[in-house]
Amino acid sequence: MPDLSLLSAALGDFPATSRAKINEALADRAVIPHDTVSLLMEESELSLDRLMLRLLPVAAAFAIVPISNYRVGVVAEVTSARGTTLYLGANCEFVGGALAFSVHGEQSALVNAWVNGERHITCLAISAAPCGHCRQFLNELGCARSLELLLATAPKRRPLADFLPQAFGPGDLGVSAGLMSTGDQDLELEGGADEPLIAAALAAAQRSYAPYSHDYSGVALMTEDGHIVAAPYAENAAYNPSLSPMCAAKTALELNRPVEASKGVRRAVLVEAPARASQRRFAEVVLESMAPDVSLEYFAAVDNNASRSVRPS
Ligand SMILES: [Zn+2]
Repeated sequence: MPDLSLLSAALGDFPATSRAKINEALADRAVIPHDTVSLLMEESELSLDRLMLRLLPVAAAFAIVPISNYRVGVVAEVTSARGTTLYLGANCEFVGGALAFSVHGEQSALVNAWVNGERHITCLAISAAPCGHCRQFLNELGCARSLELLLATAPKRRPLADFLPQAFGPGDLGVSAGLMSTGDQDLELEGGADEPLIAAALAAAQRSYAPYSHDYSGVALMTEDGHIVAAPYAENAAYNPSLSPMCAAKTALELNRPVEASKGVRRAVLVEAPARASQRRFAEVVLESMAPDVSLEYFAAVDNNASRSVRPS
């Protein structure tokens, strides 16, 4: 959910009808659909790049920054045969938690596109230069070679490779798959997953990316008013920039809930295919910092492809 006064200020420069269209688009989730993108470009006489840069303060209104008070706004462009859809993202911190829990704006926008079904990103507009952590995180994408970055401070698209020379990536560990672009995993829960919250966590785990540990996992959160959002785990060749499913679910929730679903988290489910790595303890600690009265519900899934060997650490 955005900070409404910041959102209103960020929309101030747009013509009234564009403002109304953006507000309408953002009512349920931080996504500007392709027909609205075309309309905004036409009405505001903006190129796509200028529109993405103008939307950065709108994205930054979604930041949760109780520690730094430093807002990062990111707009992810996904262009396909349908047209161009824009997914907003913003940094997210956990008060009372470790700084390592933080979700960076670039990760947030990527998660937003991913949980909304996308498999690639064309370009990311970012309000500040990407940190080293994010450059490494983005290098894991299946679309990393074609990904472009557009910075508010130097508004000309440049390939990710310009920001990460001599990169270390999946290929160095013999992995050819890429984040977001892989097919679904074949996971099952004993006894099934007939409850929508558990089914959402299982579906997120199916979409997760864990080629190094095979710790396929996903988290689903339910708000007090019954709204459900789920997100998958995203692993990284350099290990530490990996994004846990609990942190991903928290940022996905902030970006994918209608204003009326503004209440706190009531339930949290982690579905995981047990491997040499585990999300369980980390998820519990992160959950405690965001919803101290909620206990993590944990479900171990059967990985029907578990005969794969786990790469030694
Ligand atoms: Zn970063």
